[in-house]
Amino acid sequence: MTLKNIILLGATGSIGTSTLNLIRQNREKINLIGISAFKKTEQLKLISEEFNVKNICYFENDKDVKFNKNIKVLKGHEGLLELASLDCDIVVSGISGLAGLMPAYIALSNGNHIAIANKEPLVVAGNILIECSKKNNVKILPVDSEHNSIFQCFDNSYRENISHITLTASGGPFLNRPFSTFKDITIEEALKHPKWKMGKKISIDSATLINKALEVIEASFLFELKSSQINVVIHPESIIHGLVHYKDGSVLANLALPDMISPLSVAIGYPRRYNLDIPKLNLIEVSQLNFLKPDLKKFPGLNFGWNALNGPNYVSIILNAANEIAVDLFLNKKIKFTNIVEIIDKCINEQNFNSANDLDEILEIDKEVRILAKTISEKFYV
Ligand code: MG
Repeated sequence: MTLKNIILLGATGSIGTSTLNLIRQNREKINLIGISAFKKTEQLKLISEEFNVKNICYFENDKDVKFNKNIKVLKGHEGLLELASLDCDIVVSGISGLAGLMPAYIALSNGNHIAIANKEPLVVAGNILIECSKKNNVKILPVDSEHNSIFQCFDNSYRENISHITLTASGGPFLNRPFSTFKDITIEEALKHPKWKMGKKISIDSATLINKALEVIEASFLFELKSSQINVVIHPESIIHGLVHYKDGSVLANLALPDMISPLSVAIGYPRRYNLDIPKLNLIEVSQLNFLKPDLKKFPGLNFGWNALNGPNYVSIILNAANEIAVDLFLNKKIKFTNIVEIIDKCINEQNFNSANDLDEILEIDKEVRILAKTISEKFYV
């Protein structure tokens, strides 16, 4: 297997940490040439020393760290775009939120494949990113576990054979909690995901099931499917992550223990596979797999996914921006858990835009929605 040069955006986050573990186990096959973080420069320095990384980018040097002279230090948004455009085999995007959009676009535009763990760019600008990848003959390899599973089961050479797909959802921490108590949900309870260890934003999204709504949109772009071709099923064990249903009734599913290192390994190694020293699936130990219909009364946020795909393209942008604002306010104890969906709903119903045709128009709508979402949120302040 040839050595792959990779750039890791969001090196100090949850995806970054899993990627570094993957590299530790495959040092002779993966060479880390660039890393970025928002701040945490002390950690960036440690990573650069451990992996001999030559390019670093940060936004804030919070600990006034001095880097070695042989390291190229890039700063801020411009620096991040320069890092993403460096010649490499694959850029891994583990940045949270819409902040990952421009680096992903620039990486593709410069002929770099991307392994994308960050769903927000695909949600708001999926068609533009897909078009850009086709134009530059590079791949967008999904790391999100459900999409990574679909990617492994989806025979793209005979698309007409495919009927639809199913994304599974663990159901999050409140699957069995009575809806009448949802208004009392605390931040600590919402962050405690039963199956996955993840960053804060995606943990809250998993608790509201808005994560799954965003994944429905993400899947529609990645696999060029209609909203009616995407199903969601609750599967509390999180062993099957995605299924592809073929028109003859045959179904291909991908199984793996819930650990992001596996989908990262598939995406970074593609089309080859790395050896990983991790706990492996034991069907006897798992013993049972359960599947349930999602309760849309309890988790109305899940509906946003199909609604966005069936509406004008700006609805996805509103959903994403209003959600980022509302989640942030919830994490800062300004609003209740149940207000998150209410704020998004109001933003979608109170705003009309022209359809967005390019990244500038998308970012303009995103900016306006964030202002509106903050104003709407004020009346929910606790
Ligand atoms: Mg996922």
